Amino acid sequence: MSDLSDLYQEVILDHNRRPRNFGALVDATRTAKGHNPLCGDRLTLYVKLDGDRISSVSFEGSGCAISKASASLMTDALKGKTLGEAEKLFDQFHGLVTAPASASVETDSLGKLAVLSGVREYPMRVKCASLAWHTLKAAMQAEHDVVSTE
Ligand code: ZN
Repeated sequence: MSDLSDLYQEVILDHNRRPRNFGALVDATRTAKGHNPLCGDRLTLYVKLDGDRISSVSFEGSGCAISKASASLMTDALKGKTLGEAEKLFDQFHGLVTAPASASVETDSLGKLAVLSGVREYPMRVKCASLAWHTLKAAMQAEHDVVSTE
């Protein structure tokens, strides 16, 4: 099991060091800001919708390794998804990080996002891991430019 945790940690550290899809998206059609006051994580999410499909997505911000890695992994996973698929992924991810640590969760459909399942054991960290996702939800629900989750 410790090998698995090491692997998980490696993916998280890698995404923290070299976050994917990092930077503003000039032609974003939706943006939202997220803030996790418990840890001090802040991020801005940029989404470009092409009809019902997420053609581009990026983020900016600063925060702990978990929040950054989560946003990086999430943006990677969202590209090319429809809004319905993104919603489904949100629910799956939310289920993953909020399930009891002892419960076995189905992670096949989550791909690399599954590396964040370890945060279940650290309630403070769950907020860090889900910040990007809650910001995504705000961006999806926003009719206008910028909303805050605060
Ligand atoms: Zn954090």
